[in-house]
Amino acid sequence: MASKRDYYEVLGVDKSASQDDIKKAYRKLAMQYHPDRNPGDKSAEEKFKEINEAYEVLGDEDKRAKYDQFGHAAFDQTAGGYGYGGGGFSGFSGFSGGDYADIFSDIFDMFGGGASGFASSSSARKGPARGSSLRVNLSISFEEAAFGCEKKFTITRKEKCTECGGTGAKKGSSPKKCPDCGGTGRVTMTQRTILGMTQTVRECPKCGGTGEVIDDPCTKCGGTGLESVKRTLTVKIPAGIFDGGILPLRGEGNAGMRGGPNGDINIVVSVKPHDYFVRDGNDVLLDTPISFVDAALGCELKVPTLDGTVKLKIPEGTQTGTVFKLKGKGIQNVNGYGKGDQYVTVNVEIPKKLSSKQKALLKEFGEAAASDGIFEKVKKFWDGVK
Ligand SMILES: [Zn+2]
Ligand SMILES: [Zn+2]
Repeated sequence: MASKRDYYEVLGVDKSASQDDIKKAYRKLAMQYHPDRNPGDKSAEEKFKEINEAYEVLGDEDKRAKYDQFGHAAFDQTAGGYGYGGGGFSGFSGFSGGDYADIFSDIFDMFGGGASGFASSSSARKGPARGSSLRVNLSISFEEAAFGCEKKFTITRKEKCTECGGTGAKKGSSPKKCPDCGGTGRVTMTQRTILGMTQTVRECPKCGGTGEVIDDPCTKCGGTGLESVKRTLTVKIPAGIFDGGILPLRGEGNAGMRGGPNGDINIVVSVKPHDYFVRDGNDVLLDTPISFVDAALGCELKVPTLDGTVKLKIPEGTQTGTVFKLKGKGIQNVNGYGKGDQYVTVNVEIPKKLSSKQKALLKEFGEAAASDGIFEKVKKFWDGVK
């Protein structure tokens, strides 16, 4: 994929733009490039997608902060192994973010409100909205992945304001039924057009479609009903988890609006490689060197495993590349049943430097081997090839 344009550039706003400015810029561009207005125009469609992607990040303060810090890399998903279905942005699915869905319903209202999926929001008062989900990357060691562990992490999330209890109204007061729409969140507008009188149902501009107004906003949250809180949480990582595995912490994400449920926290686990062990499914692979003398005469080899060192009997005449299986010395299945094995591959090492005494002994061995006919087989083989 070609390099991505800067999200601020896409929306045509300054880095210091307020959330309001960003929202306005987004609305304007989204309407301009909306597919309904540009039927069959591929470049408008691409532009529309780009605008949405930019707003999905910049329109969310948490995501914007990450973007400011890390750029596009903050949302990159390598190898597609995270199980997000390739879309990349978890919060995008289902238009769950409150503002986002609201703006969309506005836009669709302007296009006649006919788009399926948004129709309900144009005819009914805005109901509860689920909080958005957050994503946390945790890095653990090979052993921690094999045996499971507990990890602490710190996150800033939106919680219900403790001052107003999430209503957004000043302590002692409460939101009132909107006088303009009578609490329905919708107003009917009658217009005289060339075709006669037409009636359109619009979101109530006074209450923004919620059907409620706050005369005296809460001083702590400014009427949003939410506040940003830093929390340190603990996650239990199960034994056998794979690199790129995702653990959802249900209901631990941003608080919902108007009584909606909380979002989740998705923990994305990355497992650091081990110096010696390599994982293959639930099996552990290990390469170990042995001397050609040990390979020829046989020996007892001390081999590291995840459970500690074990003794492995190397039989006489072991060839290089021979694989030995250590049953049950692999990794616990992440679903809780069964365990992998460890496979040890021996690599027979031929010495590169020999003392004159060693050379003399090997020469003697070579002569004995020749007279024993050990290499006759090899010679015959090559004769056969000719
Ligand atoms: Zn409050
Ligand atoms: Zn209203």
